[in-house]
Amino acid sequence: MILAWVNDVYEGIGSFLTGMRTTGRFLVENLRNEGGAAALTRQYPEQPAEVVGDRQRGHLVNDAKRCIICHACDAVCPVDCFRMAGERDGDNKIRASLFDIDLSKCIYCGLCVRACPTDSLSMTATFELDPRHLGQRFLFRRNSSQLQQHLDAPDMDRLHRLAAAPREQLSADDRTWLEAHIDAEGPHLIGIYGLGYFTPEQKQVADAEREAKKKAKDAAAAAAKAKAASAAAAAAAAAAAAAAAAAAVPAASPLEPQRTPPDGASP
Ligand code: SF4
Ligand code: SF4
Repeated sequence: MILAWVNDVYEGIGSFLTGMRTTGRFLVENLRNEGGAAALTRQYPEQPAEVVGDRQRGHLVNDAKRCIICHACDAVCPVDCFRMAGERDGDNKIRASLFDIDLSKCIYCGLCVRACPTDSLSMTATFELDPRHLGQRFLFRRNSSQLQQHLDAPDMDRLHRLAAAPREQLSADDRTWLEAHIDAEGPHLIGIYGLGYFTPEQKQVADAEREAKKKAKDAAAAAAKAKAASAAAAAAAAAAAAAAAAAAVPAASPLEPQRTPPDGASP
């Protein structure tokens, strides 16, 4: 009993000294600004964030052109982050008209990326959420009015362009517009982003294109059907004519029976 107690005390002191030795080493390295320990502390945001590693689960990014709005990511997401909608383009192909990921809910599990059949959804290797540093991300202040906000394609282009440019180079108008969409106050904003719906004009063009293509397709199908029907009718008429011609030819006379000479008569 006493022996076990002494043993515990001995092990406790050993662990304590090991821990203190590690702490002391890191302390000295930090004071000298050298060694692995120094790299663990970054003066963020003054020191810009860096890529952590290839397998880092950073931002969710959707390459809208490849997205088919299949909802596979939506189905696997454990916290219901996605809101999406699709519209048919002129070629009758579905394209993402809205794709929002509510990052305030996202737990960065990466399940949605795995589920995506077109590889349109991916996670970047960066973790910086501040658009003022990278300028590649458009973040919205998370409030009820902006959750309902839809941006159309020109708006998204503008947002991309302005967010990527240094703020001091923007015109007053651009800056006002941008600041209305990006929260300039907090460095770690979490929000949603979207691709926006077609503009009414774009939608009109796409609908008209799709309708015209559908009409052309229907007309081609009808023409092909009519051609096939007339070919079938011509074949039937030819067959009937052949049958009639065959019926008009007189039947061949049956062979006369061979005469047999009377009994006893020589031929
Ligand atoms: S990473 Fe996980 S939580 Fe985040 S959107 Fe994808 S499935 Fe949902
Ligand atoms: S799984 Fe991929 S293709 Fe399907 S809706 Fe999500 S991002 Fe788009």
